[in-house]
Order: sequence, then C-alpha cells, then structure tokens
Amino acid sequence: MIPPPFEYRAPESLPETLALLREHGDEARLMAGGQSLLPMLKLRLVRPAVIVDIGRLQELDGIREEANTVRLGALVTERTLERKLEQRLPLLSEAAASIGDIHIRNLGTLGGTLCQADPSGDLAPAALALEATLTAQSTDGSRAIAAHEFFSGPFDTCLADDEMVTGVEVPAADPESVRGHGYIKLARRAGDYAVVGAAALVSLGPDGSCRDGRVALCAVGPTAFLCEAAGRSLQGTRLTDADLAEAADLAGNEADPVSDVHASAEYRRAMTPVVVNRALTRARERARASHAQRP
Ligand SMILES: Cc1cc2nc3c(=O)[nH]c(=O)nc-3n(C[C@H](O)[C@H](O)[C@H](O)COP(=O)(O)OP(=O)(O)OC[C@H]3O[C@@H](n4cnc5c(N)ncnc54)[C@H](O)[C@@H]3O)c2cc1C
Repeated sequence: MIPPPFEYRAPESLPETLALLREHGDEARLMAGGQSLLPMLKLRLVRPAVIVDIGRLQELDGIREEANTVRLGALVTERTLERKLEQRLPLLSEAAASIGDIHIRNLGTLGGTLCQADPSGDLAPAALALEATLTAQSTDGSRAIAAHEFFSGPFDTCLADDEMVTGVEVPAADPESVRGHGYIKLARRAGDYAVVGAAALVSLGPDGSCRDGRVALCAVGPTAFLCEAAGRSLQGTRLTDADLAEAADLAGNEADPVSDVHASAEYRRAMTPVVVNRALTRARERARASHAQRP
C-alpha cells in the first residue's frame, strides 16, 4: 500500500516544530517512531497534508532520574524504557517489554504510543497506575496533564491540534513503603495487542499491610482506565487471596469491552478479573519479597 501524498517537514528544534503545528493545525501530523502512523497512512485511515518528523529533536530524548521523579522525554523508545527502567520504574519496563516485537520497540516511542491512544496499548495502563503526568506544549506555552485526564476516547486525547507531548513525569515511590508491580497481558499470540491488559501496583507499609493499591486496564473499554474501586478496596488489607479476588472482581465490573476480530466482548469481560488477579498476585509476591529483605 502506498500512502497518499504529503509534504514532509523535519524540524531541527522544538520551537520550529511548535511553529509548524501552529501554522498547519489539524492538517499536520507529527511522526515519532512512525510505527502506528505509517500503517495508518498506508491504509489511508489518516490523510494529513503535512507530516512533521520529530526524530531530530534530541531535546525530547533521554531519561532524567531525580530523587522525587523520573523525567522521560517523549522520544524515549519503548526498547529504552524496557532496558533502562528495570530498577527505577519496573512496571513501565515490564509493560514496554510486552509490546509487539523488538523491531517495533526499537522505533516506537513513549510519546507516540500514548498519543496514539490505542485502547489496547500497553503503556497507558502502566502510566495510569504510576500516576504519570504528561507535559503538553504549544507556541502558547506548556501545561501538565494527568494521565487519567489525557485519554478522551478510542485513538483520541485531550491535546489541541497545535499541541504536542514533550515529556512524561513519573513520581517516585513512597520511600516508607515497598512496592511490587505486575503487568499481565492476555494476547492471542506473542507480540499481539492485548485482548485484556492489567497493570497492578501495591505498596506495603512496615507492618506488611497494603498502603496503596492501583489497578489499571487496557483493551476492555474505549480508553485505558484506572479502576479506582479496586485500588481502594486493597488499602489497609493484608493482600490475602480473598482481598485480591475482591479487587479483581471490582475491576472486572468496570470493564466495558467490545467485540472485534481478536476476541468477543463476553470473553474479554470474563477474562478481566482473571488477568487482574494474576497481575495483583505478581505485584503482591514481588512486594512481599522486597519487604522480607528489608532490615
Ligand atoms: C506490528 C505492530 C505491533 C504492535 N504491537 C503493539 C503492542 O503489542 N502493544 C502496544 O502498545 N503497541 C503496539 N504497537 C504500536 C507501537 O507501540 C507504536 O510504536 C506506537 O503505538 C506508536 O509510537 P510511535 O513512536 O511509532 O508513534 P507514531 O506512529 O509516529 O505516531 C503515532 C501517533 O501519535 C502522534 N504523536 C507521536 N508523537 C507525538 C508527540 N510527541 N506529541 C503528540 N502527538 C504525537 C502522531 O501524530 C500519530 O498520530 C504495534 C505496532 C505495530 C506496527
């Protein structure tokens, strides 16, 4: 398939990029890794007049680890997330490692996958569970958008036509507690998009009880979403099997899947609590192992 004709621009700086977005508005599309945009162009699902290739913007690449936050540039690739964040943000690393195959992860970017807003995308639930904040910029300035406010519908975000994501900030874990994580993806074949994806984070206090629990889902609703009732139900518990099962059922109640060629809505609904339970169990076991090693 050959894409329709477009004008190609490759700005060298962020101000130049923002000026192009201001000039062309909804006629322009940014291209980061091109892993979603190029297939969409070839299938003629999008027909932008101008493609703005942001691959040269080195200021959008890189990871800055600070005491209270990790700052990630929009152009950090999925493969870099997978390899460089195993220690500091293992949930994001685990979710990134589950994306497609290594060729896609070498090119696909954090900003691109979040802005693509595919309801089945693997990084969105991790970003939601980690309470990430995205930075959006335009020629008018910048604003911070909480991950839970970013996704507005399937393949849609709250970005204005002249805005772009320049980075993502993830707050550090509470130093008083130990954290365990789990990302579980149910897919038909290795490398496929999720049929159900669940990200879980649990934090244990010094007495081993749960201080904070978070569950976020993809592929079972119009957007990825945080299951607040499930997270709340875990707080203060000992994370017994019954506690996890209750949280998994609460998360399952929030699933609102549709049928597609990969799975029926009924199957996705039935599998949601199963996948959430597995993610929570993995998170609990990791948290308990870290807790046991604490002096
Ligand atoms: C075969 C295949 C399998 C895949 N499997 C998976 C999978 O299992 N799980 C998964 O999560 N993903 C999967 N993907 C998608 C992959 O993760 C893509 O890389 C990702 O969705 C898009 O990232 P990108 O950097 O390539 O963005 P691009 O394709 O360049 O852009 C995607 C969209 O985001 C916009 N955009 C890009 N960057 C910005 C920015 N900084 N600010 C504002 N808008 C921006 C673009 O204009 C475009 O509309 C798969 C892709 C392929 C081709």
